[in-house]
Amino acid sequence: MIEHLVRKNILTLKPFSTAYDDLENEVNILLDANENPFGSPILNNKFFNRYPDPLQMEVKEKISMIKGVPPQNIFLGNGSDEAIDVLLRIFCEPNEDACIICPPAYSRYETLAHINNVMVTNIPLLADFNLDVEQIIKKPDGAKILFLCSPNNPTGNSVRIEDVEKILENFKGIVVMDEAYINYSRQPSFTAYLPDFQNIVVLQTFSKAWGLAGLRVGMAFASTSIINLMNNVKLPYNLNAASQKYIIDSLEKVSWVNEHIIETARLRAEFCNALKEISIVEHVYPSDANFVLARIKDAENVYKALLKKGIMVGNKTNESYCKNCLCITIGTEKENNFLLEVLNQF
Ligand SMILES: *Cc1c(COP(=O)(O)O)cnc(C)c1O
Repeated sequence: MIEHLVRKNILTLKPFSTAYDDLENEVNILLDANENPFGSPILNNKFFNRYPDPLQMEVKEKISMIKGVPPQNIFLGNGSDEAIDVLLRIFCEPNEDACIICPPAYSRYETLAHINNVMVTNIPLLADFNLDVEQIIKKPDGAKILFLCSPNNPTGNSVRIEDVEKILENFKGIVVMDEAYINYSRQPSFTAYLPDFQNIVVLQTFSKAWGLAGLRVGMAFASTSIINLMNNVKLPYNLNAASQKYIIDSLEKVSWVNEHIIETARLRAEFCNALKEISIVEHVYPSDANFVLARIKDAENVYKALLKKGIMVGNKTNESYCKNCLCITIGTEKENNFLLEVLNQF
């Protein structure tokens, strides 16, 4: 059903295989992959001398139980950034096809498109940061992938569900729904639409609410035809053994994650209220994520002054549709209060 959208050279790829695939009995002498039989020099020589499972089955089984998505509908990547790159390489013929981005948007979509020599068609969000559904459905020639993000980075709002439903029913290409911040939102995940739509890919990540940005692990949920293509295109050992081990450990700690999501939402409300009281703050956009976008008088200079005080925030002043806006991550109570104190001094 999506095969006509796939680049011809990708359709004919064969899955990566190892001697493990030929395994019939219990084998404990592993002499197929030129690994070091003595172990590794660290952690009591135990862990890392063997190549990791290329399809990360143990990790996927655990994720499956939490997300309610079957393992064969899950792809794991070196961050969701890898999933974005792999999708561009599967569907977009360089120098020929395009992807659609709805700015203000996460900058990685455009960067990765350019690296792959894929053209970018911008269909900006409307003034209220909702999707321009009519323009998207018209689908410009050659557009194979549509990148959506909910809650959206950097605006912080969630999409309207009925907008996405209309797009899914009418857009004749791949719809990527980036849910990097879904844990902070009250809106349910679009993974619920997987059984009904062959062309949706939902992205989530361990980098934000899970507190594991350093491990570089992202998830994609999609139809088996898309997942199989993604597995054929990724580097065979894209998730290293340490990342797989620590993700499995983390999946046992859902309550820690949930507590900190609740704490972040509390701090977000507190921070937004305080921000609105500050004289140089012109507007605070509502946020379903762990950051807020705020329009601030003379934002460029405020940004520089904050840096001098040792505070880094996201500078969106020079991005289209974000004039004079700073994008601020919700920190700890102490960090937020220090930032508010500094902003109050302007
Ligand atoms: C942070 C973020 C990601 C996460 O990328 P990883 O590669 O998984 O760390 C994805 N999409 C958006 C919009 C983000 O803001």
